[in-house]
Amino acid sequence: MGPGDPLGEGRRGIGRRRVLLAGTAAVGLGVLGLATKQELQRWWWQVPGNEKPRVAGQVDDARARWVAAADGNMRRGDRPSDFRIDRVIIHVTQGSAASAVKVFRDPAHRAAAHYIVCRDGQIIQMIRELDVAFHAANREYNERSIGIEHEGWIDRPQDFTEEMYRSSAKLTAGICDRYGFPADRKHIIGHNEVPGADHTDPGRHWDWDKYLRLVRAQLKTESTSGDH
Ligand SMILES: [Zn+2]
Repeated sequence: MGPGDPLGEGRRGIGRRRVLLAGTAAVGLGVLGLATKQELQRWWWQVPGNEKPRVAGQVDDARARWVAAADGNMRRGDRPSDFRIDRVIIHVTQGSAASAVKVFRDPAHRAAAHYIVCRDGQIIQMIRELDVAFHAANREYNERSIGIEHEGWIDRPQDFTEEMYRSSAKLTAGICDRYGFPADRKHIIGHNEVPGADHTDPGRHWDWDKYLRLVRAQLKTESTSGDH
């Protein structure tokens, strides 16, 4: 930005603050001495006012389209530094993807998942994986999991399309890979399997065998292609 830039003053202000922050971090490193880089990262972003830098609109799965959920339906976090992620929780929206997006954007709803997978396989991400989404109605399970909604109704097996299974399985495989947990039924569970859950999704028509097979096949492809 040149001296004639009307935004120049503000931008320079931010620049100075960055320099100050960097200086403070360097001092912190010196004082802590033996702290590992990971411990420092964990500690640093937990100090009030310090938030992990985020890029607006960034997604965790490259195929996803970003639509932000309301802040009231999630809690900002720093996973997996503050909480380990070792579960994927499968949901069914009991409605259209559009209606799910609408309620997840409503701060009064008090619930939202990280992702919605549509019947045609499109993925909408509404909460970043580092944040805790309120989707399992169980605090411990919310803190350790990623929630994936699937567009449709539990009593309409035709809603669970091939495109949806494949797209969702790829998403779940990516999550298993990112956080290093196995693709099995202990770690990939239905909302109905969350302790204390009074929800029945994804229901009896959700084909777990097929889903797990697709997730594992995807993980195999990824590990042989060597592109991650
Ligand atoms: Zn659910």
